[in-house]
Amino acid sequence: MNKAFVKEPEDTGDRHCPRCGSLGVAVGSTTLDAQLPPDERRKLGESAWFCPYPRCEVGYFDPFDRWVGSDLLLHPSYPKDPTAPLCPCFDFTCEQVEADVAEQSAQRVKQLLARSKSPEARCTTMSPSGQCCMPEVQKYFFRLRGQA
Ligand SMILES: [Zn+2]
Repeated sequence: MNKAFVKEPEDTGDRHCPRCGSLGVAVGSTTLDAQLPPDERRKLGESAWFCPYPRCEVGYFDPFDRWVGSDLLLHPSYPKDPTAPLCPCFDFTCEQVEADVAEQSAQRVKQLLARSKSPEARCTTMSPSGQCCMPEVQKYFFRLRGQA
């Protein structure tokens, strides 16, 4: 019997990165198609998991421990890639958050928040995790403000 078709009762759907053990973020084929060059895309199945751990070299992995490196992502984002924008949809960078904090305002972050809720946001294809980047932006903002 093919093990792939056996649904084990304790299977919660959680998958952990084969390299670092981080809990993966489930992504569908729309995200994978948009994020990976065709040659790399073929190495994974219909759906896979994104490893969110910043210092891990794994980008996506599947239940068979096949994986594709994070350096191959077409639209990388912070903090997985420290030089990439926080939000690839709107090319929103760490510098913009830093400018807000320096001015003691939240103008840029608020603008991004409004745009992230509009149809302009293309998180499914532009964000490596397929999810909105806003939590990461807010986390970075509050961390900087806490240090100021
Ligand atoms: Zn990992």
